[in-house]
Amino acid sequence: MPFSANIQRLQPSATIAVSTLAKRLASEGRDIINLSAGEPDFDTPAFIVDAAVEGIRSGETRYTPSAGLPGLRKAIAAFLSERSGREMDPDGVVVTAGAKQALFNACFSLFGPGDEVMIAAPYWTSYPELVTIARAEPVEVFGSEERGFKLTPEDLDAAFTERTRGLILNTPCNPTGAVYSVDELTAVAEWARDRGVWLISDEIYQNIYHLDDRTAAPGLLDVPAGSLGDWVLVDGASKSYAMTGWRLGFSYSSTEVAGQLTALQSHITSNTTTPTQIAGIAAYGNREAARASIANMVAAFRRRRNLVTSRMDELLPEIPYTTPEGAFYLFFRVDGLFEGDVQSATAWCSHLLNEVGVALVPGAAFGDDRWVRMSYAASDDVLEEALKRMASMIRGS
Ligand code: PMP
Ligand code: GLU
Repeated sequence: MPFSANIQRLQPSATIAVSTLAKRLASEGRDIINLSAGEPDFDTPAFIVDAAVEGIRSGETRYTPSAGLPGLRKAIAAFLSERSGREMDPDGVVVTAGAKQALFNACFSLFGPGDEVMIAAPYWTSYPELVTIARAEPVEVFGSEERGFKLTPEDLDAAFTERTRGLILNTPCNPTGAVYSVDELTAVAEWARDRGVWLISDEIYQNIYHLDDRTAAPGLLDVPAGSLGDWVLVDGASKSYAMTGWRLGFSYSSTEVAGQLTALQSHITSNTTTPTQIAGIAAYGNREAARASIANMVAAFRRRRNLVTSRMDELLPEIPYTTPEGAFYLFFRVDGLFEGDVQSATAWCSHLLNEVGVALVPGAAFGDDRWVRMSYAASDDVLEEALKRMASMIRGS
């Protein structure tokens, strides 16, 4: 029986598929190190968990407005105001079931048949699929490898057509770890403004930033307001607050766009769960506790990033990688290792999983199957062991 045209080209999430396979092999007794899915290995901070438990006990278990509890929208707007130094409107916030739903809402509401949507590549695996679900055409645009693949107006001009309606950008980037500077972001934002292209900026890793002493990576809210055309900011609690399973994300946009996104959501999930929203009021409202928890987690990510890059330099100096400036991924290039039947990163990752039990995600999931992504959201011991196993397979010892 044929399925509808809506999903004819749909592929399941590759990151989730690898992680599911790794978990299955581990449950069958295989000794597997799973560095595939990007998921903090920390528990959700206690002040957030306690708020949710208290909320459930006191009867916070009913539907909420689709755009989210007013208290949560206010807390998120205050958090964004603190970041940007300008007043952000709670009515521009739409609370979603994870950043994934915020991206779905935006893609489905802004794009449709005949539209092209540029995707900064290498990209997080779900962007092209979300554009495809909206029946628009995803167009991958790669910046140069030397610049960590970051896009310039020239790269964008080369891919621009009359049908271009949107651009999806992710900084800090999953999978490359690259971070746009304010100037680089401003140049891209002005390009989108001048071409009448929607700019969707996914900043879910903004707190996991390694370059300098700022507590967050530069983002759209650091771009001068006059440089922005039409834009939607996407963020969420999964990564910054170790809340992947709670499903808490949000978008920020003009109130007119927020109204449309809310109308769509009101027919789909209605709202993310109420206990999760109560947890969100603590996460975004209690800034002092949030800052302390985030600082602890980021310190660990930074240490692991240094560990992984220094071990790569020591054990496998011939393998190029992009130095992670944010997020928690190492993106490295394996085409120099291709031989025999192994002629793609997909085949290389299968070989690695079968031979030494290390699960990584092949670059096919991100637009270039010469590369591989390792999540370093794991303990130091686990990372050391994974790198040792990888080096032993590559050296054939
Ligand atoms: N954007 C990026 C770049 C991601 O890596 C992820 C990973 N889950 C998401 C969005 C979605 O996050 P969530 O739905 O858990 O908020
Ligand atoms: N975003 C994470 C990743 O890239 C989690 C899995 C997913 O949602 O894709 O691995």
